[in-house]
Amino acid sequence: MNIPWGYPDFDDHEALHFVTDAASGLRAIIALHSTHLGPAAGGTRMWHYADDADALTDALRLSRGMSYKNAMAGLPLGGGKAVVLADAERTKSPEMLAAFARAIDRLGGNYVTAEDVGMSVADMIAIRRQTRFVAGLPVAGGEVGGDPGPHTSLGVFLGIKAAVRRALGKDSLNGLHIALQGAGSVAGGVARLAAAEGARLSIADLDQVRVKALAEETNGSVVAPDAILGLSADVISPCALGAILDADSIAALDAPIVAGGANNQLATREDGARIAARGILYAPDYVINAGGIINVSTEYVGDGDASLVRRRIDAIPERLEMIWAESAASGANPAEVADAMAQKLIGR
Ligand code: NAD
Repeated sequence: MNIPWGYPDFDDHEALHFVTDAASGLRAIIALHSTHLGPAAGGTRMWHYADDADALTDALRLSRGMSYKNAMAGLPLGGGKAVVLADAERTKSPEMLAAFARAIDRLGGNYVTAEDVGMSVADMIAIRRQTRFVAGLPVAGGEVGGDPGPHTSLGVFLGIKAAVRRALGKDSLNGLHIALQGAGSVAGGVARLAAAEGARLSIADLDQVRVKALAEETNGSVVAPDAILGLSADVISPCALGAILDADSIAALDAPIVAGGANNQLATREDGARIAARGILYAPDYVINAGGIINVSTEYVGDGDASLVRRRIDAIPERLEMIWAESAASGANPAEVADAMAQKLIGR
């Protein structure tokens, strides 16, 4: 493996921490991309990676994405992310979580964690026993905190509606066909909100139990994972893992809109141009999926209540509109426009 300076996704990250705890079997990477706007904040992903290089790539890309996301959402946070390199069964133990939490604590608040794929509210409670640099903790009714997932889903739903307004000239999702990749926390919330507005759903997940349950609940159809992105639909909503939009999948898209909650949907920077060249409207992922970190930030920083969280999430469609308008005016694709705006905000 090359050392990170030579790595394709290395982007002048401020620091990379490689964490090992032999007793619990913990192996993790904590990546701090930027603390320009505040402590580097971003969730912890627990995933079984095919090899260590994939985990490092994920940490590098996800932490940069968090810098961009937090900046674009107007939050007083920098960008960071942690990945825990899990075994094939994604075994998690209290000892492993405690060792991971102690590693976060040693960073003295430069990194703040929360939930991501493979990490639950219960895990955040366990981490809180060793460090205060964690959010996404349960709170009493009416207070800000808890699982960021539903807030992410709300922002994605509002972003999909903005895209539908712009590309299709419609104010409602009623009767529209939405293809959802994923049936997890984010996809589940999007599915429920879209179904309540009368959208027709096609849903795919590697987890057949999960996808069946969500399809039953939302009156949707189950689609095979390898067929979902090429489905003929009004909106393709990637809400699973990243790097799913590449030359091949973009060539096969059969929808006027791609708008979903997954992080790092574009496999490479060129893929933003490829989507635009096909005349498909793309909602930059880290802009549309900021609802969860907006809730986490408001909880952690303590600068507002649930109504401020809602106002901040309501600003997501406006921000997308701004990006699409500038894209139309300048000819730069929406992903490029968003990147340039974010880089300016973090002083890069
Ligand atoms: P989750 O673990 O609840 O759900 C992810 C689902 O995707 C799982 O059910 C998994 O089986 C499925 N999946 C994985 N690969 C797949 C594939 N190739 N095809 C179909 N399904 C596949 O995670 P989540 O919290 O819903 O997060 C989903 C995405 O949204 C991730 O990219 C995450 O980083 C991003 N995101 C989440 C939040 C949040 O608040 N939870 C916030 C911002 C971004």
